[in-house]
Amino acid sequence: MSVKKICVFSGDGIGKEVMREALGILSTVEDISGKRLFETEEELLGGICYDACKVPLTEQGLLLARASDAILLGAVGGPKWDTLPFELRPERGLLGLRREMDMFANVRPAKVFEPLLDASPLRRGIVEGIDILVIRELAGGLYFGEPRGIFMIDGVETGINTEVYSRPEIERVARVAFTFARERKNGKLTSVDKSNVLESSVLWRKVVTEVGEKEFPDVPLSHILVDNCAMQLVLNPRQFDVMVTSNLFGDILTDEASMITGSIGMLPSASLGGTVGMYEPIHGSAPDIEGKGIANPLAMILSTGMMLRYSFGMYQEAAWVENAVDRVLAEGYRTADIYCEGKGKKVGTSEMGSLVCEAMRQIFGKE
Ligand code: NAD
Repeated sequence: MSVKKICVFSGDGIGKEVMREALGILSTVEDISGKRLFETEEELLGGICYDACKVPLTEQGLLLARASDAILLGAVGGPKWDTLPFELRPERGLLGLRREMDMFANVRPAKVFEPLLDASPLRRGIVEGIDILVIRELAGGLYFGEPRGIFMIDGVETGINTEVYSRPEIERVARVAFTFARERKNGKLTSVDKSNVLESSVLWRKVVTEVGEKEFPDVPLSHILVDNCAMQLVLNPRQFDVMVTSNLFGDILTDEASMITGSIGMLPSASLGGTVGMYEPIHGSAPDIEGKGIANPLAMILSTGMMLRYSFGMYQEAAWVENAVDRVLAEGYRTADIYCEGKGKKVGTSEMGSLVCEAMRQIFGKE
């Protein structure tokens, strides 16, 4: 296998802290394999990029991203940049990157780790065994539709955003979701929309149904309204397997799903569709804990595992990462966000990263 080039955007806040641990995982994979497998190069993105270059994403950053085999991203944003004009904010850099790279499908697993059952705000009996995969449309919908802006209309200040979805945009994300569902054991797909109110959702439901009937007749498909879905996620989350939904609904539902599984610090994601996949935790830059050394690096580490699996086809190496996370949690190690008073051993960001690397070595030693 040729050396894989990885573009690294650590970004802002705890992004830098968790990225350090992800890079440690890559070094461990190389150590175990006894080969040089990865070449990483860092570029600026977000607030740190604005501070240096007065834009949240540079042409140089974009060029590196395009020339790489995969992208690893920490997180962007923070109060320091909240008063900037909208187009210069760190988050615009991230949205621009996703759009420029045509990453239209964001894949977010929400899985409960057995040792973390007590970290969920829901009862053990409700969350036990949850293994949901949410596919969020990422390049369209309300976050990009035109017209948008704040206008004076008939003398009244009015904010406008527009949800736009075309048939090809829905078809391509539906295909990704059906494909994931088909690959899972007893996989089924639930499409989430608001077709009782929104025309964009009426088309969404029609197109997802057609793609299913024509191309994936073997995958069971059901539809649910987003408000009911939000309720069902708390009431009976185990009923869901793979979900597909729009940009806005996916943004909200994945945060809800993350809390059900314990902590936002546990959930990885992959943004797929374009020529290069991007892997990032679903959490933000967490300015409230920046610099304290207590951020949970597991979402970033699991995102790195997804990169190994989906971009490089390194299934065994991805399994080392995932199994090592399981093992460290089973041994009782917890960062502050998943720590229950009196249970387990509380560790910081770098200690948790080192523990996962050590567990990977042990798992490899037993193979
Ligand atoms: P956040 O995800 O950064 O933090 C929410 C809460 O979760 C905070 O209490 C934080 O301490 C905690 N948290 C998050 N990640 C954690 C981790 N790994 N370990 C332990 N605790 C963790 O969301 P926010 O506070 O709404 O946003 C902060 C900044 O991040 C904002 O500027 C926002 O725009 C940005 N943001 C960026 C991304 C991204 O880069 N993809 C995503 C969401 C928010």
